[in-house]
Amino acid sequence: MGYLNCKKCGGNYELQEGESPKDFDKCQCGGDLKYVENVDVHLNLLKKFKLSSEKIIRISGILFGASIMLIPYYLYSPAPTSTSFVLINIDSFILWGVGGLTAAFIASGKIINGASNGLYAAIISGLIVIIIYYLLLTNNFNNTSPLDNIALFAVLSLVYMLIPGIFSIIGGLIGISIRKVLNKLI
Ligand SMILES: [Zn+2]
Repeated sequence: MGYLNCKKCGGNYELQEGESPKDFDKCQCGGDLKYVENVDVHLNLLKKFKLSSEKIIRISGILFGASIMLIPYYLYSPAPTSTSFVLINIDSFILWGVGGLTAAFIASGKIINGASNGLYAAIISGLIVIIIYYLLLTNNFNNTSPLDNIALFAVLSLVYMLIPGIFSIIGGLIGISIRKVLNKLI
């Protein structure tokens, strides 16, 4: 009887008595089906492993990008009152862009993933700064009203996630474009 194997999602369907491969047009996911006599279990395991290794590479790319995006905070100060505040140095913008570029380049994927991987790197690095600097070091989240704490977090998110995020998204789009061109050349 045999099986129908989906080329897209890798799913297998065992044909029942009286069923013919011709009875089935496409998989539920929309992928094309291929008739196989026996399902190679090892091949399926390999496919699953490949999918998870793609995820691992993506996460590593984002984390690596996020650590590059933290460099400006070592070079300059995260404190807005400082004369070397991170946002008044142009190197910060460049490094945030490079962080997004690196994240997107390593993670690969579609063009839109390049932008989101850049943004994720910004969110992670921004959260690290907010937690380490504003929560642990300067204890700024000690307002009695929870609303004040939320407002503070909103303002901090804007400065430490959204602004760096603009540069890392641009960097991410450049990074994924470079990766796409390289993928085609190699
Ligand atoms: Zn499918």
